Amino acid sequence: RKRDDVDVEKLEQAVTNLDPKADFKNFADLPLSDATKAGLKACHFAVLTDIQAKAIPRALKGEDILGAAKTGSGKTLAFIIPVLENLYRAQCVGADAGLSAMVISPTRDLAVQIFEVLYKLGRKGHLFSAGLIIGGKSLMEEQNALVRMNIVVCTPGRILQHLSQTAGFNVDNLKMLVLDEADRILDMGFQKDVDAIIDYLPKERQTLLFSATQSKKLSDLARLSLQAPAYISVHEGA
Ligand code: ADP
Ligand code: MG
Repeated sequence: RKRDDVDVEKLEQAVTNLDPKADFKNFADLPLSDATKAGLKACHFAVLTDIQAKAIPRALKGEDILGAAKTGSGKTLAFIIPVLENLYRAQCVGADAGLSAMVISPTRDLAVQIFEVLYKLGRKGHLFSAGLIIGGKSLMEEQNALVRMNIVVCTPGRILQHLSQTAGFNVDNLKMLVLDEADRILDMGFQKDVDAIIDYLPKERQTLLFSATQSKKLSDLARLSLQAPAYISVHEGA
């Protein structure tokens, strides 16, 4: 067997045995690939934030998540790490894997920031192809890039445009959907776009939804997009 297969099997076992209710303090307490560990080290991340400690173990185990925690609490890593790890363990990255994960952000700027975190964390040994679909390039340029991506970070309107117009843009193998800043996505009026995007995606997938605030609209979106989610809310001083 290839070395990678043995590593993946060991990791899979460790994730299965992981108790998500345990008290996690450090990234070292989690069953993560060597590539992610190296990426975290290069970024000088060692101690988990509250939302990361509560969300990452469950997300590694494949659960859907609704995570609410204030701005600056570290929500980006709370979904980037599970995306990298779950795709790595499922071995659905690389040239033939197709699109495995979609991260939706309300704005271009936030999408760029997410992409940078993904790139920095993943560059120490992960072999995925990722890209941004946020407009600003021609549809044709984006189309050509899209067909090679395993992970796409995007804004709702632009990715919906590709889903409805780009022939050969296949999302049948999508394993993970992330909605970041879901409250802002809704405040900016993207509810219909997100509903339409979800209609294109496989029903059998993992969905991670993160938000700075909670609202009625947000629980409606959660009901539509998540299956038996873990509700994780981190309050100041908690
Ligand atoms: P949010 O999305 O909740 O607003 P971010 O993911 O943007 O928060 O993170 C806020 C800041 O905290 C960023 O500068 C990020 O690099 C830093 N950060 C995130 N997680 C950790 C951690 N575990 N240890 C140290 N710094 C962290
Ligand atoms: Mg954020």
